[in-house]
Amino acid sequence: MKAIQVPKTGGVEVLTLVDIPVPQAKPNEAVVKIAAAGVNFIDVYFREGRYPVNPPFILGQEGSGVISEVGSDVKDFKVGDRVAYTGVTGAYAEYQAIPANRLVRVPVGITDRQAAAAMLQGMTAQYLTHSTYPLKKGETALIHAAAGGVGLLLVQMSKNIGARVIATVSTEEKAKLAREAGADEVIFYTTQDFEAETKRLTDGKGVHVIYDGVGQTTFEKDLNVLRPRGYLVLFGASSGPVPPFDLGKLATKGSLFITRPTLVHHIATSEELQQRASDVLNSIASGKLKLRIEYIYPLKDAQKAHRDLEGRKTTGKLLLIP
Ligand code: NDP
Repeated sequence: MKAIQVPKTGGVEVLTLVDIPVPQAKPNEAVVKIAAAGVNFIDVYFREGRYPVNPPFILGQEGSGVISEVGSDVKDFKVGDRVAYTGVTGAYAEYQAIPANRLVRVPVGITDRQAAAAMLQGMTAQYLTHSTYPLKKGETALIHAAAGGVGLLLVQMSKNIGARVIATVSTEEKAKLAREAGADEVIFYTTQDFEAETKRLTDGKGVHVIYDGVGQTTFEKDLNVLRPRGYLVLFGASSGPVPPFDLGKLATKGSLFITRPTLVHHIATSEELQQRASDVLNSIASGKLKLRIEYIYPLKDAQKAHRDLEGRKTTGKLLLIP
């Protein structure tokens, strides 16, 4: 089968198309013939070696497709079932072996591409708005990189809750998408001072919560635009990691809270995985949540997908098609 391997960690050039044997299912696994694999910013961190995985490895954390083989202990799934998954490394490939307890059934009405696009970013936006800081009607949220994959979903979920959304983006095209997703206000944080703008838009009061997947370039000012006892939910670092931080600042800036959550701890049990996945997939099926899937690449063009994602050229979801 064809797959995209990382033979050694580094820049986009390390992504290598290889021909390797189709994996075989262990007793607790099912092999999935992948229809679509999601590209996520976390793949960049894995490729660069920011996470401890020893090369060579197949990249990719998310996929959907049809089961082609089941292991001897697997009772809940059979060959031919349509499934999706996230959190198992190796989805940039034609086939992947997945522990059966990590699989989610794809409901009727959801396409393979929608399923692949929804798992990682959808469940992330879901846990951030419902568990990490359960946003409430009438509250104000600041959402950075609001036209990105997680960003567009965060905006929609926040609006569905009834919150006011202030979004940041870098371009006019992204501003339009953020507004279409429901953002009440949009700030161009590369040319405008988002601290001054957020204060202006909140009459100096600040916001209840910030969902920040950008990190290095936004972090310092985030601390100045939260209300007293506000929450900074730092969930990523697309601009680079946040440097070490003096916790005393949380007191002086208003008894603030900071958390650095990850999806893995929010889908650790089968129950939580199934509940979050069905919440997201059902919201898509009912039209409550819209996915933007405009960036679709053949598997062999993984390098281009990464270049586009890191170059801030993309909006919404990126998919690789084996
Ligand atoms: P996005 O589609 O949001 O792409 C990243 C966006 O970040 C860009 O489009 C860009 O938007 C913005 N950005 C700001 N500064 C930079 C920079 N210097 N270089 C590149 N991009 C920059 O990616 P994802 O939706 O896949 O992920 C968003 C964030 O969420 C990432 O940090 C990711 O790691 C994190 N994440 C965290 C999870 C968790 O559980 N903790 C799970 C899933 C994702 P603009 O041009 O508008 O500035």
